[in-house]
Amino acid sequence: MAQGESTGVIFNIQKFSVHDGPGIRTTVFLKGCPLACQWCSNAESMRPEAELGLIRSLCNGCGKCVNICPEGAMNVDAGHTIRVSRDRCTACGECVAVCPTDALAVYGKRVTVEDVFQQVHRDRSFYENSNGGVTASGGEPLRQASFVAALFRKCREAGIGTCLDTSGYADPDRLGEVLEFTDYVLFDIKHMDSDVHRSLTGVANDLILSCARVVAESGTQMLCRIPMVAGMNDTVGNLIQTARFVRTLGDGVAVELLPYHRLGAAKYRTLGRPYPGEAFATPSQEQTDLARNIFEDHGVPCTVGG
Ligand code: SF4
Ligand code: SF4
Repeated sequence: MAQGESTGVIFNIQKFSVHDGPGIRTTVFLKGCPLACQWCSNAESMRPEAELGLIRSLCNGCGKCVNICPEGAMNVDAGHTIRVSRDRCTACGECVAVCPTDALAVYGKRVTVEDVFQQVHRDRSFYENSNGGVTASGGEPLRQASFVAALFRKCREAGIGTCLDTSGYADPDRLGEVLEFTDYVLFDIKHMDSDVHRSLTGVANDLILSCARVVAESGTQMLCRIPMVAGMNDTVGNLIQTARFVRTLGDGVAVELLPYHRLGAAKYRTLGRPYPGEAFATPSQEQTDLARNIFEDHGVPCTVGG
C-alpha cells in the first residue's frame, strides 16, 4: 500500500447486485456505523474495526486455532466447544488460515481506493448495458467519506455510475464531498419521531432529516428507503408524517418500502452477540399495502423491495 494513498475498511464487495441502486451494480460494504438499529441485518457492519466470526455449526473441535493464536484468545472446553475471548482477539486472522472447516472468518480489511476500483472496473460492461455502476453501502459509508469520494471520483472519470446508500447520519460537509461525485442516493428514513428514533437506533433524527434536504437540494437523484418493521414505524400517523416529509423533498423523490426480515440473526451468533431484533415482526401484506397507499395518496411514488 503506497504511503498517503486513501484507504478504507470494508467487509464485503458484492458483484452483480440488483437491489442497491439502478441496474447491475458492484456494492462495496464499508465497515462501521454510528447507528445501532435494532433490526440491522448486517451485524458485521456495525463496528469500525475488523472482527473474528465463528460459525459454531462448522467447528469440529480440532483445536488448531487454540494452538496458533498468539493472544491466547481461543479456548476449547471439555465438551470440545470453542470459546473466543473477544477482549483478547486482535482479528489477526492466523486462526482462520489453519481452520480446516472454514468455521472462522475475519470481517473487515483495509483496502486502497485503487484495490476497490480495479474490482469495480472489471464488470464495467455489465454497468454499461444496465445503467448500473458502483454502490457504497455499509455500515455507514459517510464515516469514511474521503475514501468514498476518492473512489467515486475515480469511477466517474472512468464513466462508471456511482450510488451512495446512506443512513443520512453524517456531517453535511462530508456528505457534500461525496455528493460531488454521486449520481444516485439511497437514503434511509426510519422514524419521524425523534425520541422513538433514538430509542430504536441510538441517535435522534434531526441530522438525518437535514441531510435528506442537503441531498434533495443538490439535485442528485434520490430514493428514500424505509425499513418497515411491524409495530415500530408502520403506524398510520408515522407513515403520514413520513410521506409529508418525503413530498417536501421534491417531485422526483420516490419511496421504497423494505419489509423487515430476520435473515441477519445468524450473523449475530457468529460474532458472539445477542440478536436485538427478536421482538420485531415482518409487516403483513395488508400493512404494506396500506403504507404504499398512504405514500401514493400524498403524491409520492412507492414500491416494495425485497
Ligand atoms: S484472529 Fe488472531 S487473535 Fe483472534 S483468535 Fe484468531 S489467531 Fe487469535
Ligand atoms: S480450527 Fe476451526 S474447526 Fe478447529 S477448533 Fe478451531 S474453529 Fe473449530
